[in-house]
Amino acid sequence: MRFEEALIAGGQALGIEIRRDMLDLFKVHYEVLMKFGRQTNLTAIEGKEEVAVKHFLDSLTCSKAIEIEDDWDVVDIGTGAGFPGVPLKAERPSLALTLVEASLKRVRFLEHLVSKLGLSDVEVVWGRAEDVGGMMHHRENYDLAVARGVAELSVLAELCLPFVRLGGAFVALKGPGVEGEVSKAMKAMETMGGCVENIVRMSLPWDHGERSIVVIRKEVSTPEKYPRRPGIPKKRPIA
Ligand code: SAH
Repeated sequence: MRFEEALIAGGQALGIEIRRDMLDLFKVHYEVLMKFGRQTNLTAIEGKEEVAVKHFLDSLTCSKAIEIEDDWDVVDIGTGAGFPGVPLKAERPSLALTLVEASLKRVRFLEHLVSKLGLSDVEVVWGRAEDVGGMMHHRENYDLAVARGVAELSVLAELCLPFVRLGGAFVALKGPGVEGEVSKAMKAMETMGGCVENIVRMSLPWDHGERSIVVIRKEVSTPEKYPRRPGIPKKRPIA
């Protein structure tokens, strides 16, 4: 299936409207990904339908799980080639988007991508979430943090919740069978001031997989000692 067709038909199946302006941005993102992605190991997914569904539509499932407002500050932690943050920005151009990525090669890719897409109000930050989340300018500064494919929820809670302001949310895009991961992460979420609000389940079209979107609400401020030093959240998840 062609890239555009897959986006439109797949979007319809999921109840996501794909506007013309979004298609234009997704096409440029796809081209940049295919041109430079291979060199930087950015994606293992290459078929047009697969990229349309597994990268772009999957990113947009986030806005099916939580009502995103126009003026929100959004941060995408471990964004890689820009997922899910960049498709969310295409869907809602008025968002202010921050992309946090630890790999310099990927940061260079993202800077190129953002300029090719002509996006404004996008900041690319090179660093580990453990460091960036402790910085005054980023800490508890976002209405929404999102992450896909970065770590287990017990680790992610420590990486992402410090960025979220009180009353804001962290949305983790996950696969099927997320219950065990969620229960293992309860202590970490609570320690970071978060609480599971909702888990939304969806099937990607044409059997591209089951998805669970976990919505975590920030109810209490994150204690200052978190996040711990780079690598520690993963090495010793809060349990
Ligand atoms: N979110 C993208 C990429 C997933 S791969 C997607 O779903 O397609 C995970 C990415 O997270 C990699 O690019 C890796 O460099 C980055 N990453 C892993 N740990 C990180 C950390 N602690 N801080 C910032 N980025 C991190």
